[in-house]
Amino acid sequence: MKRSFIREILEAIDEETISFAGGLPSLNLFPTQDLKEATIKVLDNPKIYQYTVSNGINELREQIAKRYSDEGFPTTKDNILITTGSQQAMYILAKFFENKDITIEEPSYLGAMNIFRLNKLKMQGVKLENDGVNISEFEKSFKNTKLTYLIPDFQNPSATTYSQEKREEITKIVEKHDGILIEDSPYSELFFDKKMPYISAKLPKNSFHLGSFSKTLVPSYRIGWIRADEEKIKSLLIIKESIDLHSSGVSQYILAEYLKDTQKYEKHLQSIRDDYKAKAEYFSKQLKLIMPEFKHQLPKGGMFLYGTFGDNIDTFALVQECLKKKVVYVPGNQFYIDKVPNGEIRFNYTHSNFEQIEKGIKLIKSCL
Ligand code: PMP
Repeated sequence: MKRSFIREILEAIDEETISFAGGLPSLNLFPTQDLKEATIKVLDNPKIYQYTVSNGINELREQIAKRYSDEGFPTTKDNILITTGSQQAMYILAKFFENKDITIEEPSYLGAMNIFRLNKLKMQGVKLENDGVNISEFEKSFKNTKLTYLIPDFQNPSATTYSQEKREEITKIVEKHDGILIEDSPYSELFFDKKMPYISAKLPKNSFHLGSFSKTLVPSYRIGWIRADEEKIKSLLIIKESIDLHSSGVSQYILAEYLKDTQKYEKHLQSIRDDYKAKAEYFSKQLKLIMPEFKHQLPKGGMFLYGTFGDNIDTFALVQECLKKKVVYVPGNQFYIDKVPNGEIRFNYTHSNFEQIEKGIKLIKSCL
């Protein structure tokens, strides 16, 4: 195994470097005042400092369950396991499915691929198209693996959003082969126009649905969750409690307090969507103006913009030059099972301001 390129980059760069690399939320959008008020309300209660239950505090699991139910995916707190970020959710699942074969999208989330490697899952990649995985390739692979990991909303890294048709095709294939879908949804709330239904909602017995507060509120609380049927949650709990006993009680109590005011949370989500939409459009416009040879699609939500120069450019070599000029991105080859250099790039557009976006693209163009 090797370290994640993104984690290494985060450590290597200084304050002056314009970073389009990590999936960092915008600093200006953290609801610091509201979180401070929620914190003050729970701060004097000694139970927030105590060891707590492994599956997560009732108040938080109930609020998460209610959001699913309100969206037409009936859920109770017993379907929810709180995890230390959705990164841990994936780790727990990888332990659960240790040594198995798994069908994944290519390109896919680097952090998931490393967890699968660590737990000796054998990954089979299926090509992502503009509206989701290639369905016939997917079925061919899934027939054998009976297990898949997908990110259907504003995928990391490609920003791909699955069409309604492909969501239905995936549902049919998972049912037909009686397999398992792991649906990772950290970006689903960050839609620019509309929210798509979760595939898992049609597969309540055959799915694990992963969520997180990292992109919608703050990543530093390290709170995510798994939604699954009760029996599966009980099995996963055995793994969870042996990893870290429980996720931070302080984080959970603050979150549960903050989430009591659902209108406030909704307003906050809308402000992120508006801000990110404007930034995505600006990023795309600047790319077309400054570096038109980089072909890309405008994302429909999330935090990333993905595209390619074509195969005659090696973006892994290019990023070494960019680092010297103090601008970074993630080369596309990092998101493939075999990291063969290619002309693709993932840009994060949420962390930088408009001025940095324009300046950063100009710097990359000068290295090109
Ligand atoms: N899944 C995907 C697709 C992600 O992009 C990330 C974070 N970049 C995670 C899971 C992990 O997020 P967290 O542990 O902060 O919830």
